[in-house]
Amino acid sequence: MDWRSVLNFPGANRAAVAGVAAAVVALGALAIALGSSSSSGAASAGPVAVGEAQRASLTVELPAVANDRIYGSQTAQGRPIVVIDAGHGGRDPGARSVSGEVMEKDLTLALARELRDKLVQRGRVRVALTRDGDSYLTLDDRAAVARRLDAAMFISLHMDSAPNPLARGASVYSLSDVASDAEAAHLAVEQNDGAGQSEGNGSVDSMLSELAMRGQMSASANLASRLVKKAAGRFELRPEPHRFAAFHVLRRAGTPAVLFEAGYLSNADDELLLRNTQHRSDIALALAQAIEADVAAHARR
Ligand SMILES: [Zn+2]
Repeated sequence: MDWRSVLNFPGANRAAVAGVAAAVVALGALAIALGSSSSSGAASAGPVAVGEAQRASLTVELPAVANDRIYGSQTAQGRPIVVIDAGHGGRDPGARSVSGEVMEKDLTLALARELRDKLVQRGRVRVALTRDGDSYLTLDDRAAVARRLDAAMFISLHMDSAPNPLARGASVYSLSDVASDAEAAHLAVEQNDGAGQSEGNGSVDSMLSELAMRGQMSASANLASRLVKKAAGRFELRPEPHRFAAFHVLRRAGTPAVLFEAGYLSNADDELLLRNTQHRSDIALALAQAIEADVAAHARR
């Protein structure tokens, strides 16, 4: 059960009575205030039984949400859908590079589009993006795309930043209740900021059984280790590149999900690499191969 069904309660279309209408508007505002995806999900997911007044008030307040466009070649018809999530966006720029010239949100979008194009061209999976422009999305908005499309996996793309200017290299995080190290725990807290954690986790925990969540975690860990294997020797990885933390966006995706940190924008060498289209193409190819290997392994089971 999610906020979509909450908003879609029976009788809402008879809400001509002002008091009820006000309550529905307040519920919409509450959902937005909680950072829930719900209202956006409701607005884009087809008929929502609310009156015109409420519809207008909901629509105005909503963040821009991708229209769940699915990209794929002719040969990929019916193939699994991979959701690629370009981290940050809109009023959330993410990390600023050490030169001050680029922002994380722009480079994650560039990498997301390049990975989409690579996957579509190779024809083994279909692809959706959580955003294909400079728009702001909550973590729940992002995870909801994967759930709406019944995606086979969810890959969130980010770039690191650290006080130590020498820190560099890529890493992959998969979901866990317990963080692998203090830095991973800190990163998850930063990423989860504003995610309406208590409400969100409550509804997810009731929606998915503990067993299903364990399965999701172990499939996510498998995907992360495939990514590390494909990346090894092709671009620089951090020591112990596969890490674990309790990321809200990964938990809510409802499918195997990883967060890929492509390198450090706080490191001058990594910044140059991440701004280089050939380097990003190398990263996209390794990610695409790992994604395809993972999809193939699941198809054989
Ligand atoms: Zn980030």
